[in-house]
Amino acid sequence: MSSFRFDSKAIHFNKRITSDSVSKTQPIYQTSAFKFKNLDELEGYFQGEKPHMYSRVSNPNTDDLGAGVAELEGAPAGVATSSGISAILTGILSVAEQGSHIVACDDLYGGTYQLLANELPSFGIEVTFVSFKDIETVESAIKPNTVLLYTESITNPLLRIEDLDQLVHIGKKHSLHTMVDNTFATPYLIQPYLKGVSLVVHSATKYIGGHSDITAGVVVGDKVLVERTKAKVVNLGSNLSPFEAWLTCRGLKTLSVRMERHVKNSELLAKFLRESNGIEKVYYPSGASAKGNGAIVSILLDQEIDANLFCEKLGWIGVVPTLAGVETTVSYPLGTSHRALPASEQERLGIHKNLIRISVGIEDFEDIREAFANALR
Ligand SMILES: *Cc1c(COP(=O)(O)O)cnc(C)c1O
Repeated sequence: MSSFRFDSKAIHFNKRITSDSVSKTQPIYQTSAFKFKNLDELEGYFQGEKPHMYSRVSNPNTDDLGAGVAELEGAPAGVATSSGISAILTGILSVAEQGSHIVACDDLYGGTYQLLANELPSFGIEVTFVSFKDIETVESAIKPNTVLLYTESITNPLLRIEDLDQLVHIGKKHSLHTMVDNTFATPYLIQPYLKGVSLVVHSATKYIGGHSDITAGVVVGDKVLVERTKAKVVNLGSNLSPFEAWLTCRGLKTLSVRMERHVKNSELLAKFLRESNGIEKVYYPSGASAKGNGAIVSILLDQEIDANLFCEKLGWIGVVPTLAGVETTVSYPLGTSHRALPASEQERLGIHKNLIRISVGIEDFEDIREAFANALR
């Protein structure tokens, strides 16, 4: 390299071998492709002797994330994707094709509803939305071409806990795949794969990443379905970038300690809000798991309270249309996540104009309590 001329030196200066320094943490493989000594070694990749060739296909950091979430979910395999929505799309396409029919829950995350209602029909995939509160309604929506039952382990924003045992039972009875979005619960609280669900998806943008600095998704399940999902990720270009995967893996390491505090603060806040004036209803579930019931608390403010003013008076608690960060934030389902739903659906699901969704952070509870007490005053 020292014989190189100026421009070549500028390009090749950092190619010295550094394998005798072992990094304590997983390095970031911020590379679009991998280098081979010769054609035999390249052929070796196709024979399974070398793990990586091109980062859209696989990369150590994205593989780490898929495998890490799979381990926590108790599933054999996982694949990371560019977002929660691409995780849902590629997971669905691993089991559904033109002519297939899906039965989906009718109170899904708004972005998922848009994907299923507005995009899947152009793939020739038909979706029927029904209430999953009553499993007989789900069963009666199954048709001869149904391939999948789709729902969320804890729904948004009214926090209904899905009965996964019943879902799996109906799925198996009709030889259907089941797919569950486990974003709100995380594997810390609920592990749907271990209950027999075929595919579990995450918006890793939320608790898995945990710090509101990435957009990412993960699909986990058995090897066959995850390989099929991986093929969709590769062919549709839904791969995650190495750096974002690396950041998400860093977040995953502290999932338990964050969730423990998130849950504790949420229990205290739900109790405080239930005892406060000015609130018609507090939504905080029970019975989700032995470790708690998640970290989202939704509240319906009294009719005469101006929701806009209430949010403004929350002070340091910002209005942020996402959830699951370390900071406490509030969002407004009617104006954001559920904006796309028809008004009649919003009304039927209970997405009212005074409904505020709180993503409870990991600050000192007393500071959170004071902010809400102030705003209510
Ligand atoms: C945010 C979210 C999604 C979508 O994930 P993105 O990472 O924004 O694509 C899907 N499901 C649930 C429950 C979510 O909260």
